[in-house]
Amino acid sequence: MPEQLNPQLKALRDQCAAFAREHMLPLADVDHGDAAKKVRAASKQAGLFGLTQPDSAISKDARQLALCVARETLAAANPPALDAVFGPGAGVLGHVGEPLASTHLAPLLAGEKRGSFGFTEPDDAKPTRGVIKGERLIIDGQKSYVTGGAEADFINTLVRIEGHGPSMVVIDTHTEGVILDKRFNSLDGSHHAAFRFENADVPVTHVIGEPGQGLPKAMRQIGDVRLLFAAQACGYLIWVMDLLQSHLQSPDKDGAARGEKDVVRWHYADLRIKAFAARSMLYRTARLADQGENIVNEGMACKVFATECIGEAVDTAIQLVGGNALVDDHPLAVLYKKVRAWRLAEGASDVLRLNIGRGILELGKGRI
Ligand SMILES: Cc1cc2nc3c(=O)[nH]c(=O)nc-3n(C[C@H](O)[C@H](O)[C@H](O)COP(=O)(O)OP(=O)(O)OC[C@H]3O[C@@H](n4cnc5c(N)ncnc54)[C@H](O)[C@@H]3O)c2cc1C
Repeated sequence: MPEQLNPQLKALRDQCAAFAREHMLPLADVDHGDAAKKVRAASKQAGLFGLTQPDSAISKDARQLALCVARETLAAANPPALDAVFGPGAGVLGHVGEPLASTHLAPLLAGEKRGSFGFTEPDDAKPTRGVIKGERLIIDGQKSYVTGGAEADFINTLVRIEGHGPSMVVIDTHTEGVILDKRFNSLDGSHHAAFRFENADVPVTHVIGEPGQGLPKAMRQIGDVRLLFAAQACGYLIWVMDLLQSHLQSPDKDGAARGEKDVVRWHYADLRIKAFAARSMLYRTARLADQGENIVNEGMACKVFATECIGEAVDTAIQLVGGNALVDDHPLAVLYKKVRAWRLAEGASDVLRLNIGRGILELGKGRI
């Protein structure tokens, strides 16, 4: 639970709160690109930038919990350039051998190369497939939603390799036969790209781990990101609850506190119940993860619940604050756009619900 952090995690929480206050909130009016540069530099100096990396100072037995504490605390301040605080994690490249350890993992962690993740495919396309020919792997197919793909040096791509099955493969974006079909932005302001592979020819050493073992690797990375979304959603829930509390304690046109109206109080209390549940789920799940337990189902439950809660909280907060909250640059209007994406990214809520049902009914997995 958030109340039961050890002294090291309490210090991390306090450090993140101070970092947001001192280095991020003052950048509210600065252009996003410039703010991100400043936040990145300050984060490196404060030792937060490398927190997501394998050799970070966080002890292994509190890794997920520490990341949740840090992400939740930072998001609770709703600061600008939140995405610039942490550097890239190893993702599917974690524990990779040579040559990928030197050619891709090390430069990724050093910030010298940018990676991306190619999993989602267009509905009307055949699955991306690869054929091994001697020392080469020849790839054909499409990936439709690669975040940061247009600026990336490589894509960690799910490829069905003939005779082996789903595998994760590193595809350099400058490889001949890798075609950037489209760049686009989503409602939350993030940038993506769609790629086509036509006889893209990569060394067979670019297969991450054993051929055919890609799906569990991809799902592990997706699982980590789901917990990240849940932690950020919980942080924003705290921010929305604080904003509503001061709004409801302030007087309306007649001089009465806004929160005195029963219906308003009811909505606010309902959101608080859900925020309490979302945070409890998150901390319980992070602790289970750090104990080495399988948390696939719990991670999905946290992501679905927390992202739906923050969606409802921002929507209700806009309703209670009124028309001013819909002005373009109002923080609630900005947050509304940002959090909508999370009910689709890293797995649609509907599909994750089905997976949770399958987990328990067909595989006997999942806790309550
Ligand atoms: C901001 C953002 C960033 C993203 N970044 C990446 C990225 O970096 N890499 C990447 O590979 N992808 C990325 N995605 C894509 C994301 O993973 C997909 O959008 C998501 O998994 C849903 O898949 P889809 O869009 O194909 O929708 P679909 O799978 O078509 O789902 C749409 C709806 O159809 C219904 N549905 C679908 N399947 C089922 C089913 N089996 N049973 C019942 N109902 C079903 C559900 O109602 C679901 O909500 C990103 C998406 C967003 C929004």
